[in-house]
Amino acid sequence: MLLELEDLVVAYGRIEALHGISLGIEEGEIVALIGANGAGKTTTMRAISGLRAAQQGRIRLQGRDITRMRADQRVVSGISQAPEGRGIFPGMTVEENLDLGCYTRKDAAGIAQDRARVFDLFPRLAERRKQLGGTMSGGEQQMLTIGRALMARPKVLLLDEPSMGLAPMLIQQIFAIIAEINTQGTTILLVEQNAQQALSLAHRAYVLETGSIVRTGTGAELLADPTVQEAYLGVA
Ligand code: ATP
Repeated sequence: MLLELEDLVVAYGRIEALHGISLGIEEGEIVALIGANGAGKTTTMRAISGLRAAQQGRIRLQGRDITRMRADQRVVSGISQAPEGRGIFPGMTVEENLDLGCYTRKDAAGIAQDRARVFDLFPRLAERRKQLGGTMSGGEQQMLTIGRALMARPKVLLLDEPSMGLAPMLIQQIFAIIAEINTQGTTILLVEQNAQQALSLAHRAYVLETGSIVRTGTGAELLADPTVQEAYLGVA
């Protein structure tokens, strides 16, 4: 397993948001995490990236226990998150925002290669490299967030609601780009409310309900599962 969560418990004060979840991601996979509002999807991402401490359980990256590792060290170790709601720096240019994604790296040649990769994936960012992040459209900011996370050259990329707030055409485009990033060799954990799209794209998926994993299977299996269809795919 590239990334493994074992019986992970995360609480906000006295309120437990994750009640001991276990999941695994193999190298090369796209794994989706779906669930309703408040199910704990973002909390799971924050626990993996180290922004929220785990009360119990273990997180392992390539077999190494990283449960207590600091967030910035996790980035160096290969975990990079594109957070929900964009979170770019509005007063900095596109290029400067991208550079922030790799501030821990020293390999100039590798960084140049990754910048070229990001501009190749997102030509819009290349066209607007000198534009201030805050003046970019919502969709462009979403691309910038993903691009910035890629600049750390992650082993596993955490994408939190990449389709949120985007027009339908742009949603298709973002999902196509996610597939391309994966084809190029990056493992992906994808959190999505857009269950139809996420399950169509993912190799495997987990369904999270009020802090517990209630189902898992291949994307195709869950798309065909009547319970999942009723709860998450709007099929009566
Ligand atoms: P959404 O799709 O709405 O973003 P989610 O599945 O990502 O939902 P989380 O944001 O992980 O869900 O929230 C899980 C639970 O933890 C919710 O009950 C939420 O109210 C609670 N929670 C999240 N953040 C905090 C916080 N900072 N303080 C207290 N409770 C929180």
